[in-house]
Amino acid sequence: MNSTPRAAVIGSGFGGLALAIRLQAGGYQTTLLEKRDKPGGRAYVYHDQGFVFDGGPTVITDPSALEQLFTLAGRSMRDYVELLPVDPMYRLCWEDGTVFDYTNDQSRLEAQIAEKSPADVDGYRRFLEYSKAVFDEGYLKLGHVPFLDFRSMIRVAPQLMRLQAYRSVYSMVSRYIRDEHLRQAFSFHPLLVGGNPFRTSSIYALIHALEREWGVWFAKGGTGALVNGLVRLFEDLGGELMLGAEVDQLLTSGDRITGLRTRDGWQAEFDAVASNADVMHTYGRLLRDNPRGVSQARSLARRSYSMSLFVIYFGLRRVHPELQHHMVLFGPRYRELIKDIFDGPDLPEDFSLYLHAPTVTDPGLAPEGCSAYYVLSPVPHLGKADVDWEREGPRYADRILDYLERHHIPGLREDLVTMRLLTPLDFRDELNSHLGSAFSVEPVLTQSAWFRPHNRDSRLRNLYLVGAGTHPGAGIPGVVGSARATAGLMLADAGLERAQD
Ligand SMILES: Cc1cc2nc3c(=O)[nH]c(=O)nc-3n(C[C@H](O)[C@H](O)[C@H](O)COP(=O)(O)OP(=O)(O)OC[C@H]3O[C@@H](n4cnc5c(N)ncnc54)[C@H](O)[C@@H]3O)c2cc1C
Repeated sequence: MNSTPRAAVIGSGFGGLALAIRLQAGGYQTTLLEKRDKPGGRAYVYHDQGFVFDGGPTVITDPSALEQLFTLAGRSMRDYVELLPVDPMYRLCWEDGTVFDYTNDQSRLEAQIAEKSPADVDGYRRFLEYSKAVFDEGYLKLGHVPFLDFRSMIRVAPQLMRLQAYRSVYSMVSRYIRDEHLRQAFSFHPLLVGGNPFRTSSIYALIHALEREWGVWFAKGGTGALVNGLVRLFEDLGGELMLGAEVDQLLTSGDRITGLRTRDGWQAEFDAVASNADVMHTYGRLLRDNPRGVSQARSLARRSYSMSLFVIYFGLRRVHPELQHHMVLFGPRYRELIKDIFDGPDLPEDFSLYLHAPTVTDPGLAPEGCSAYYVLSPVPHLGKADVDWEREGPRYADRILDYLERHHIPGLREDLVTMRLLTPLDFRDELNSHLGSAFSVEPVLTQSAWFRPHNRDSRLRNLYLVGAGTHPGAGIPGVVGSARATAGLMLADAGLERAQD
């Protein structure tokens, strides 16, 4: 190519943003097209009556992967966004009154384990060693490497065997730790990326080491401030962001994408196109008239998808200093509840919740004297439980708020200033997510690495994927890693190879 090559990235989730920055910094003239009126994807921000609610991700891990986006562009992250440490990383609560502060301080962590189950201190240390070994192999070495052919899978097979990747996270944790509360404390992490701890590969135990390596962070001003920082970086580099630009169709000629058309009729040619939109939406909708789109959509329909989420964002006219920023509230059942969430066929009666209380770290997210929250309940996706969310949503919300009021936030309803809901229907209709899944293709071994939709399509040579549905998977570190893998391919394919690592 002689002139500057042009790339389009469809979707401004963390994966799309990170890719767009890498492409723009690497020499592509890049256009980022976002369907909604604001960037961020699952990290959309709602503003209600002076409260600021981050719609999705709030636990920032691996800040170094974010920092790298700024340094590769010759900038400093500090000039764009400030990250604040969160300690404890999470507070875990059970209904029998057990409380466990999941902290990055080894001695505080071990003291709590010893109090609960002295024999498990040594087991925990061995689990941490295992987790670090998987982290080195699965995250540091392979988390940003595209798996494009089966040979790449064969090459890592010995390591996967050695690390017993065929076991589940829960089964691996149980090898080291006996106490049931502690087993839950060290095995719930796959849920954060859409995985079932009882069937997700033990490779996902790496999340523990990842959190221990860098800790947990929160962006000052909320995750939305991080999204805005990335957008500003992209635009400072000369990239173009188009909001309210829903791509309706990819235009093709032979085995190449030639350009795209938006829903309102805008059309342009591009040398390369990357989709950060849901993988099923990309093939089934955007390539609906192309044989590759049709066959891929058929194959994607046979995959299993992660669960969905029900979220209540609410603001209170009081502060609750007794709460921690991130709280996991375990319900009466663990294994059985997770099975019902992943397999349906109904919305379970009970729930386990994640409570986000960001004003603990940044009081600026609510008016003076007030506090902002969201509470999230994992629920079956629309293909597993045919719930009428229009009707059920308000009732379900009522039950959750009632539970919070009884167990953790007395006077919640009386102090309520504002509240809004997000249901599986919003994942399906607003984010174009197949079956309303919150984290795309389910992270199990048979749908990971080469078995996951690839970062570059194998037939349409200049079509690329980035984000939760491709390697390595969901979560901010995952999709930012996918952007690194995809950018490497796109820059090399355009002859723009430039060291970005
Ligand atoms: C409630 C919630 C809480 C979470 N908490 C955490 C957390 O604490 N920490 C963490 O690391 N991860 C968390 N996650 C997971 C994490 O948010 C996601 O895995 C990640 O943000 C997904 O990024 P993505 O790049 O795949 O893009 P997405 O965020 O899925 O964005 C895709 C974008 O594509 C756009 N789009 C779709 N179709 C089109 C089209 N046709 N044309 C144009 N644009 C289109 C969508 O509007 C959207 O903006 C959470 C997820 C949720 C839902």
